[in-house]
Amino acid sequence: MEIKLDGRAAVITGGSKGLGLAMAKRFAASGADVAMLARGQEALDAAQAEVAAVAKGKVLAIACDVSKADSIQRAYDAVMKGFGKIDIVVNNAGQSRTGAFETVTDEIWQEDLDLKLFAAIRLTRLAWPQMRARKWGRVINVLNTGAKAPRAGSAPTTISRAAGMALTKVLAGEGAPDNVLVNAMLVGIIVSDQIKRRHEASSANRTLEETIAEAGKGVPMGRMGTAEEFANLACFLSSDQGGYITGTAINVDGGMSPVV
Ligand code: NDP
Repeated sequence: MEIKLDGRAAVITGGSKGLGLAMAKRFAASGADVAMLARGQEALDAAQAEVAAVAKGKVLAIACDVSKADSIQRAYDAVMKGFGKIDIVVNNAGQSRTGAFETVTDEIWQEDLDLKLFAAIRLTRLAWPQMRARKWGRVINVLNTGAKAPRAGSAPTTISRAAGMALTKVLAGEGAPDNVLVNAMLVGIIVSDQIKRRHEASSANRTLEETIAEAGKGVPMGRMGTAEEFANLACFLSSDQGGYITGTAINVDGGMSPVV
């Protein structure tokens, strides 16, 4: 099946690295105009060049801290100036933050909710009216499998992610009459810049390939996923071909989650 996004305009948060960058490339190669949002300018510049090399349409790379409301508003305005519309929103920026419950301060809770839950609320709320008015829209919330099966010691991340799953379902219900489809993709462990950074910070005496292979042993499929595999599903959900799927939370985890 050839998946086409011709004529669509997409904005992807956390688009400069890892899963976000893979989605940006996949969407751009499938015909969409793509705007990537992230904080670091250097990585944004590199991502813009990488995506432009495969793109059929326009590519924007916009500096934005999605945990800040004013920064999201500025980025939204810049995307609208560049593309004139937004059809697809991928709320992907984030990082894992976990600790024993009694060690998680109010400040940490707030930072995590701002980065994950409020970022998705704020960006989606800005793009929502135009998607409803045109009777076509897609929102993808990137979460993790802990949203469905939170383990001890996994706050605040899994709590923020569970709220993201509830947001997904509420928006799916409100968007359905206007063909605005909203889904969540729940990540297990997928090779990305995050994984490379963790490997570099660890003191274990092994190569990145060995670290990836070792982590994959805990997955029923016996390996970590690739960012491209993740991007393929995101592209499908963002396309006309995915036109009857909304309100779902799909595990992309090689069978790791204990729940469906
Ligand atoms: P990476 O660390 O590889 O990339 C994260 C991206 O998000 C970067 O572009 C980063 O750029 C951006 N980002 C981080 N904070 C902000 C911010 N405040 N404002 C704007 N952009 C931001 O992560 P992954 O690709 O691995 O992860 C993508 C999503 O998937 C995240 O939400 C992550 O929590 C989730 N996930 C990933 C897993 C995995 O195995 N890879 C497992 C579970 C969940 P910059 O730092 O320059 O802003």
